[in-house]
Order: sequence, then structure tokens, then C-alpha cells
Amino acid sequence: MDEGLQDDGPRCPRCNDTGWVIEGDEAFRCDCYESLRQDILLAQANIPERYSHCSLLGFEVGNNTSLLRARDIAMDLVKAYPARRDGLLFMGGCGVGKTHLAVGIIKDIISKSVPCLFVDFRSLLDEIKETYSDPKGGLSESDILQPVLETEVVVLDDLGAEHVSEWVRDRLGFIINYRYNNKKMMIITTNYLDARDKKGGLTRTVQTLEDRIGIRLRSRLYEMCDLVEIKADDYRLKIASPHARKKRKRPPKNAAEK
Ligand SMILES: [Zn+2]
Repeated sequence: MDEGLQDDGPRCPRCNDTGWVIEGDEAFRCDCYESLRQDILLAQANIPERYSHCSLLGFEVGNNTSLLRARDIAMDLVKAYPARRDGLLFMGGCGVGKTHLAVGIIKDIISKSVPCLFVDFRSLLDEIKETYSDPKGGLSESDILQPVLETEVVVLDDLGAEHVSEWVRDRLGFIINYRYNNKKMMIITTNYLDARDKKGGLTRTVQTLEDRIGIRLRSRLYEMCDLVEIKADDYRLKIASPHARKKRKRPPKNAAEK
């Protein structure tokens, strides 16, 4: 059995975890309410386990100015929210830390008691497809999409990674336009870079975000999000987790390696 709250009694005996204290015929917010609410919001945000430790303060930038700039922009956004409603579009190669930053942002916004949601774009599409093949599963496409449309701040992770069929563009367009019309913030990460005419140095042999999602959606995203391009070596290999290091080279057992 879980060592659940029920078994141990309420966490907050003052309000029995209701968040309300009744005095006479008046109800007041209990002191515990904010932290209780933030725990619930964090659980609802659906942040994948492998990113659950991510935070902006814990984002190591080393001496990479691109990472430093990206983290500063992320922190500024959190500070300014909700006065500021423009989101961010993180572009950069695999493993430069885009998802880490996106998760860090929503965790900090959650600590302002604002509902946020992490959406892996490819998994979202899979979930929608499942509702087509298993209509008796109980959930409809709009059930799946509803939180993606309505949650105050949404991370759309790894945009453009999947095969972008007309059906996928259609779903993406629906989400982006709905959130645009309702002035809801999006934080987006993508491995695809932007097309550049002048000094950017991108060759046309490389697919751009525009190639992936089309010019109309790309321009709509640019209206909603500030572009943050990250140039760095693979963050996961460079700085990050013990997992990544293990993957790169397996040190011999008991080796006195520092
Ligand atoms: Zn309480």
C-alpha cells in the first residue's frame, strides 16, 4: 500500500488539507494553501520523470555565452509573467538543453500558482491517433486536446521531429491558432533551425523549421514567441547527467578516474 496522505492523516491538521479554515461563519485560506496548490499543479503539469529535476537555477552554462543568454532570457520571462505573454521558441541542436530550460520555466511559473502543462508533441499525436483506432477507449480527440488548448502555459516539446503530414500540420495549426487567439503562452523547443538569408550560414541542405511546419505556422509562432537560438555542444554530454557520461564512455570498474 501507498504511504498515502490518508493513512497518516491530513498533512495540515488546521484545515484537513482542504485549504480552508472556517471561523464562525467565515472561511479563510489556510496558510498551507499555496504550497498544497503548487504540489497539485506540479503533478498536473505532466513533466516527464527524466526532466523532473530540471530547474533554471540548476542549468549549468559553463562559459558558453549562448547558454548563459538563453538562461537569462528564460529567467526574465519567469520574472515578467504574467505581465508578459510572449512565449519562447528554443532552437538548437540535439541535447543543448532546450527542454531543460523549458521545464525550468514552467516549474518557476507554477510556483506563481499558474497552471502549466508539458506536452511532448509526438506523444500527443500518438494519443490522438489512439482515439481514432479505439473510439471505445473513452477519450475523444477533443478530450486529449482540451488541456493543451486551455492550460495557461504550455510547453510543446520537440516540434517538427515527427513526420509532418497534412494531418499533423492541421492539428498543430489548430493548437497554435487557438492559443494565439486566446493569448495563451507557449514555450516551444525544436531541433530545427530557422532559414537564414544573410550571414547565418545555414545551408539549404539542412531542413529548417519552416520546411517542417510550413511558412504560415512558422510566422504565427514568431508572432507568439521570441526566438532563442542555442549554440552549444551537446549539453547532456558536456555538463550533465551521470547517465550521459556513462553512455559516452564506460569507465572500467573501480577505476580511480576523476
Ligand atoms: Zn491547511
